[in-house]
Amino acid sequence: MYFYKNEFVHKQDIQISPDDRGYYFGDGIYEVFRVYNGQIYEGAAHMQRLERTASEVRLSLPHTSDEILTILNKLIGHNNLIEGTVYLQITRGEAPRAHPFPTQAVPIVLAYCSEVKRPLATIQNGINAVTQPDIRWLRCDLKTLNLLPNVLAKQAALDHGVQEVVLHREGTVTECSASNLMMVKDQVLYTHPANHLILHGITRAVVLRIAHALQIPVKEESFTTEQLLQADEAFITGTTVEITPILQIDGQSIGSGVPGPTTQKLQAEFERTFLNQNTPPIQGQP
Ligand code: PMP
Repeated sequence: MYFYKNEFVHKQDIQISPDDRGYYFGDGIYEVFRVYNGQIYEGAAHMQRLERTASEVRLSLPHTSDEILTILNKLIGHNNLIEGTVYLQITRGEAPRAHPFPTQAVPIVLAYCSEVKRPLATIQNGINAVTQPDIRWLRCDLKTLNLLPNVLAKQAALDHGVQEVVLHREGTVTECSASNLMMVKDQVLYTHPANHLILHGITRAVVLRIAHALQIPVKEESFTTEQLLQADEAFITGTTVEITPILQIDGQSIGSGVPGPTTQKLQAEFERTFLNQNTPPIQGQP
């Protein structure tokens, strides 16, 4: 079952209008939620980010956050989803193609579930990456539908025979095509500050919280591609990839070229936030 225009419907019964501004302008916003054991993970944080993006692009959400979470939970129930993701998209509505905000259009909500398993093999064994210039706009903190630069970046990685790209602006590392990036150097965890140049990842925030709780020093400071290549460890964070080690960048090994001890410690603690329901979550502030 899908959720579309206020109804739970089968996919084949959805008719997307060519007048949907999401369709021809990418004029819309989205979120991807993880579902573990039938439960939405970090739902409140995702809704906060959705609300912030909506407000920044001046799109009025047709439901409150609580109403949206209720819809998503019903969707999870209808689909008997135990492990997977929920995609939520809200476009500015339907109107003949013209740049100004339409006066009559009503935002359109689409949501559906996917049975995506945790990528355990790459979480355990790591991935390789190549560096690429970050050609995106200057509001990468907003989770909008305009993902063509991310699509091109991801495809460039695959064309190079690796799984991910490390994006940089004139040598300063920002993030990856669909994940944030962290590195460990001399026991300190570094990641780009949460400003307009990166998406403020929910997983990034959870990992920083865990690092604080484990007393791993954290510096939210930018670093260069050269510094990244000299790192002891590097990994990406994201809702679907969780914490995935990067073993090589541009053909050069990071550290000893295997998942590092700090990465593995963070991974173990991250798993505890959703796997072991009886373990209280780690307390701490990012
Ligand atoms: N950066 C980008 C560009 C992304 O698309 C994503 C995936 N949503 C992330 C970072 C990671 O964010 P999160 O941890 O909230 O999934």
